[in-house]
Amino acid sequence: MKAEKCFLFGNGSYKAAEKMVPVGIIVHSTGADNPTLKRYVQPSDDDPDRVALLEKLGVNRYGNSWNRASVKKSAHFFIGKLADGSVGTVQTLPTDICCWGCGRGKKGSYNYAPHAHIQFEICEDGLDDREYFTAVYNEAVKLCAELCREYSLSPSSVISHREAAKLGYASNHADIDHWLRKFRLTMADFRRDVAKLTDPYTEYRVVRRDNLSKIARKHKTTVARIVALNSDRYPTLKSNPGLIRVGWVLKLDRV
Ligand SMILES: [Zn+2]
Repeated sequence: MKAEKCFLFGNGSYKAAEKMVPVGIIVHSTGADNPTLKRYVQPSDDDPDRVALLEKLGVNRYGNSWNRASVKKSAHFFIGKLADGSVGTVQTLPTDICCWGCGRGKKGSYNYAPHAHIQFEICEDGLDDREYFTAVYNEAVKLCAELCREYSLSPSSVISHREAAKLGYASNHADIDHWLRKFRLTMADFRRDVAKLTDPYTEYRVVRRDNLSKIARKHKTTVARIVALNSDRYPTLKSNPGLIRVGWVLKLDRV
């Protein structure tokens, strides 16, 4: 995935340019029924790529994008509908400067060092269209997996605005859990999907009375697959899959 760049040079957080090193990622959604990226993201007048970007994003005729000094909020990325109706990701701030994304809680703010998070907004629609939800969800998972790899972050450091608020480092908002809930998902599901992309394997330590078919059943895989993944480490598995020892650490597909 290659995110298009349309930096919001006119936004106050871009001008403030407070430096940050990310320690995690916050997932937001916009809280208004408008899935188009052009609502929030428009190039500056002097952006050398202005024409191409407007073609890609579409033109906001209301002049109310977030590329204005009077808008006291920002995000590093936006996910939503491009002009052609497809779902895409646009980077709106460099990831080494703070965005004004999550406000402040009683303990402080994840906008700033030493807790600064990369933050992105998903453009909400009416929250009832499964096709749009699935497209932006998958795009968001991919974005997080890439950022985790790039900045050596753990998928467990990906949280929602709501979770950041509960921890005391953000304003009291419900995003994006309220949207996930409509499709019977949670942030735990989201993090698991990010983890699947960053590391498709998980580990299992053999305990007393385990056998391979029991482990396979429990982890929704097959004995043959476990043998294939682990016979380099435990060569006897090939000749005798019936024999496993307590304490062995088996590599399994993450499900
Ligand atoms: Zn939010």
